[in-house]
Amino acid sequence: MNVVKTVDEVRNQVAQWKQQGLRVGLVPTMGYLHEGHQSLMKCAKKENDKVVVSIFVNPMQFGPSEDLADYPRDLEHDMEKCEEVGVDLIFHPEPSEMYEDDFCSFVDMSGLTEGLCGKTRPVHFRGVCTVVNKLFHIVTPDNAYFGQKDGQQLAVIRRMVRDLNMNVNVVGCPIIREEDGLAKSSRNTYLSKEERKAALVLSKAIQLGSELSKTEKNAKKVVAQMKELIQKEPLAKIDYVEAVDAFSMEPVETLDGECMLAMAVYIGNTRLIDNVLV
Ligand code: AMP
Repeated sequence: MNVVKTVDEVRNQVAQWKQQGLRVGLVPTMGYLHEGHQSLMKCAKKENDKVVVSIFVNPMQFGPSEDLADYPRDLEHDMEKCEEVGVDLIFHPEPSEMYEDDFCSFVDMSGLTEGLCGKTRPVHFRGVCTVVNKLFHIVTPDNAYFGQKDGQQLAVIRRMVRDLNMNVNVVGCPIIREEDGLAKSSRNTYLSKEERKAALVLSKAIQLGSELSKTEKNAKKVVAQMKELIQKEPLAKIDYVEAVDAFSMEPVETLDGECMLAMAVYIGNTRLIDNVLV
């Protein structure tokens, strides 16, 4: 497995593979890899001849008061996680390799990016879409893998690829959870022992919503019960709990068609997200 830091090195490697007629899969990540990321890599491994993992804590998708400086980083650990599943190439650029000082081109989307996480994180999706667009141009993958864990991000990227005719197949992969139900996340490392226990309230509320939605189609009622459960946990503070259309991310009143129950909840200072498709 090769670890490279420059765009040119990635391009040279991918060009060689493409000359040999090989299919290339890309898994974009911010590192501090866990089994959730590895499930994307395994999926990519099955469907491609070569797998590229990008590890880049993208400054552009963090707001000024967010955790960019504190975001956990450990390249040695990440290399091991990638080796374990047979990744072929890690692209680990410095911010200066991705963004020139006078960088001024962005992918801005409306609608889909304004609700849910977009409300509290107004610059987030502009950063995500811009960096993913750049990674698609650098790696030119046949397939790119994203987790349903970031359900809004997946919907946004699918739309960007469709709207801008990007020549890449976007594959969504299921949420990987800890044994007790908590969705795996690099940010779980911020949680104290007590907070880790409290964080279970997210997956419990997701489970409750999923169960209720089998018989209750009134979205407001389902969301209200999910909120009620979360509010019983003293360490939890709700950012949002919403029922939205799975494609447009618009709020729904009735749970018919494909919908997503989605939430962001602060446990102490740590903002965690979870969702389920119903
Ligand atoms: P991140 O490093 O947090 O930006 O995540 C990189 C990719 O891994 C994104 O597509 C995430 O949705 C995905 N991912 C993160 N956690 C999980 C998880 N628990 N299950 C499935 N995919 C995940």
